[in-house]
Amino acid sequence: MDSRADSPAPAAPGGRSLATVVVSAGRPAAAPGAPVNVPIELSSTYAVRPDAIGYGRAENATWTAFEDALGALEGGRALVFASGMAAIDAALRIAPAQLPLVAPTTPYNTTSALLEERTAAGGTVRRVAIDDTAAVIAALDGAGAIWLESPTNPLMQVADLATIIPAAKARGLMVICDNTFATPLLQRPLGLGADLVVHSVTKYLSGHSDVLLGAVVSAAAATDLHEQVLTHRTRRGAIAGPMETWLALRGLRTLDVRLRRACDNAAYLAQRLADHPAVCRVRYPGWGAMLAIDVVGGQPEADRVVAATRLWLGATSLGGVESLIERRRRYPGESDLVPESLLRLSVGIEDPADLWADLDSALLAAVS
Ligand SMILES: *Cc1c(COP(=O)(O)O)cnc(C)c1O
Repeated sequence: MDSRADSPAPAAPGGRSLATVVVSAGRPAAAPGAPVNVPIELSSTYAVRPDAIGYGRAENATWTAFEDALGALEGGRALVFASGMAAIDAALRIAPAQLPLVAPTTPYNTTSALLEERTAAGGTVRRVAIDDTAAVIAALDGAGAIWLESPTNPLMQVADLATIIPAAKARGLMVICDNTFATPLLQRPLGLGADLVVHSVTKYLSGHSDVLLGAVVSAAAATDLHEQVLTHRTRRGAIAGPMETWLALRGLRTLDVRLRRACDNAAYLAQRLADHPAVCRVRYPGWGAMLAIDVVGGQPEADRVVAATRLWLGATSLGGVESLIERRRRYPGESDLVPESLLRLSVGIEDPADLWADLDSALLAAVS
């Protein structure tokens, strides 16, 4: 069973459409004269009161507004972090250290580096092909947690979350899912029983390639997980700037319309690329706005495609309104399971015919 909702805006259980929630959640209470948007709260300290620390490493009203909105979208309690990696580090430290951790063979490359650190420190990490459901389930026995990322970056492998999450919960594992590529509008792991969701808010949630930010969202009923993540953040201090958080909340307001357009563009491009003579493989799950292509040839051909584009920007990162293209193996840290000829495409919201024309001519010029 596919764990993804069919349209970009499913209804929140018992409530309004998530297309409405992205716009309405995390606003100041309506009162005469109240602002429509939360202010950017720039204060390192607060006047003494009995119920809180009153220090900017522990609390901030702009964070709370963003967290209320993301929590409502994922169906849990969100905590904002300085970057996606700060959020991932927090979640990995909360996963039981003494027991094996099941993880994808090729997750986001910096996540992979943290998993290697875990192994070097004496932990056990069981790497499995996340799109091989039987292999994933076979790896669960005796493990303490499973790290999921779906679709994976950049191979676009899809995990069957609706099968894997209940199987992991039935065996008592903690389930953590990196939901950066899908966003809560396409996939809601907490609703399938996951304990924690992590995000690189830098990507789709912010949507304009102008901030770095992350978040951990814990299941609504898991009060102690929320407390553990909060304690980690307050002690380790990987906190978000109020300005960045405000920008992310502003970007989040348009997530539904941005994602719909980007998904439509990606579907169009995936279909056209499938017949392109310079492309030997299109990696596209059939939904979402990310795709990857294997260019005919190898590294030189793929590099030439990136250099030949005029509208697509050759750059890392993803999830912004502008289309980006990148050869992932240019990173020494990228898995050697990622082909040298693979280009990752973050499809933006430009006119699809313009995106196609630029990509088509770059491909034809580079592979001839
Ligand atoms: C970018 C990314 C991250 C890291 O997030 P940062 O905000 O860059 O720290 C983690 N996971 C995935 C899937 C990503 O694409």
